[in-house]
Amino acid sequence: TISMAVIDKMGHIAVGTSTNGATFKIPGRVGDGPIAGSSSYADDEVGACGATGDGDIMMRFLPCYQVVESMRLGMEPKAAAKDAISRIARKFPDFVGAIFAINKKGVHAGACHGWTFQYSVRNPEMDDVKVYTVLP
Ligand code: ASP
Repeated sequence: TISMAVIDKMGHIAVGTSTNGATFKIPGRVGDGPIAGSSSYADDEVGACGATGDGDIMMRFLPCYQVVESMRLGMEPKAAAKDAISRIARKFPDFVGAIFAINKKGVHAGACHGWTFQYSVRNPEMDDVKVYTVLP
């Protein structure tokens, strides 16, 4: 799964996600990718979030909607991402998943559970993409 958020020169924010189909393609499975707020969510006024992991569990919590709404209330991306992951882990301690969060200022963070997660960032001031590793 690849999720990507983009902030343009005007400050507009967009996010999108793909899915690998929960590792094994299951005919007819919808998954979390097309569920708004689950695998991705963005609001120009706040920021964006993307997710990967066990979509059948994660979609029950709309973690990306949760992250954006937490940031709207003033949480930093790191705290918002950790909070959304921990809401899932409290109910499903064995789930595997991760999210990234970015606010409209470009502050970003990741959080994960059950695996080590990597996400990458590039902005006009950077010469190259930088990869961030997030430990559970
Ligand atoms: N979330 C995806 C799904 O369940 C899988 C993934 O992120 O790798 O469809």
